[in-house]
Amino acid sequence: MKMKRILTGDRPTGPLHLGHYVGSLQNRVKLQHEYDTYIIVADIQTLSTNFDNPENLSMDVRRVTLDNLAVGLDPDVARIFVQSMVPQIAELTVIFSMLITVNRLKHNPTIKTEAGQYGFEENMTYGFLGYPVSQAADILFCRADLVPVGDDQLPVVEVSRFIARRFNELYGEVFTEPRSLCGNTPRLVGLDGRAKMSKSLKNCIYLSDSPDEVRSKVMSAVTDPARIHKDDPGHPEVCTIFSYHKAFNGDEVQNIAERCRAGTVGCVACKKRMVEVINALLDPVRERRALFDRSGMVEEILMEGTRHARDEGRKTMEKVREAVHMDYFRLDG
Ligand code: ATP
Ligand code: MG
Repeated sequence: MKMKRILTGDRPTGPLHLGHYVGSLQNRVKLQHEYDTYIIVADIQTLSTNFDNPENLSMDVRRVTLDNLAVGLDPDVARIFVQSMVPQIAELTVIFSMLITVNRLKHNPTIKTEAGQYGFEENMTYGFLGYPVSQAADILFCRADLVPVGDDQLPVVEVSRFIARRFNELYGEVFTEPRSLCGNTPRLVGLDGRAKMSKSLKNCIYLSDSPDEVRSKVMSAVTDPARIHKDDPGHPEVCTIFSYHKAFNGDEVQNIAERCRAGTVGCVACKKRMVEVINALLDPVRERRALFDRSGMVEEILMEGTRHARDEGRKTMEKVREAVHMDYFRLDG
């Protein structure tokens, strides 16, 4: 039986952080042997917000690839590829753009939130509004079944499902409707207590942070504001650090909640423990990063992944062209 397929990925807008890890990377690593796994480095999608500063793209493409390898993606089983180097994704985007209305995109909750975040409400490019369509092409060009994402992306994956359905209704069954899959922590809060750890909000612990950077970031994170003295009873449900214990320290979380409520563990001790937990999680990531970095293989891994993605793209476009009656003739080359 054919293996089911995963497609997911990241925008190369900077280093990946613990939010990416719990939202998507962890599931990628866990499922890479069960699913045929494709990881997209979405450089074109980066232009939807960063069109005016492409000079960092090549550095960030490499960095995001290294982040994926460092958390444990095995390049022998998972294909990591560059979006802009797979022309079939652009072809599909154009066809898909006929199948969805502008109104539907404008009302997408993620588009609305992100437009606010980037200040695009009054001045949105065609490409930003259409990024869910381009993302549908990212997912469907390889006919993926499963899309591991953080919960901010659920409404965007809905657009892919809608487009797959619509295409199949109009032109015949070509695509499977992809399902999204969230991690155990669908949205990790930021160090400043804001709802989402996010590069643009600068409230992140990066997977590439040194042990000292992790320590100073955790020690200065926001906790329960009502707790002044270390024996005041705490409210773990409003504490950023407690939410990290929930995400990364399952074994101790119950015990910490009880001691925080009773005022028998102070915020400093609780944070120190978190520093240990995160550094223990990141140590093997740091080691793998150094190994891959030194190996000089990163570019070759990306090129090989991109070759595989192009092969899949060609197969899908043959089916698509046949379905939409655009298979007039073949030209060599
Ligand atoms: P940022 O908002 O930090 O700039 P991003 O949203 O641009 O990051 P993407 O490359 O768009 O990052 O997201 C990659 C994946 O990581 C998506 O599936 C997204 O849902 C997930 N993700 C990003 N931040 C978080 C978070 N704080 N918690 C859970 N998942 C997250
Ligand atoms: Mg995003």
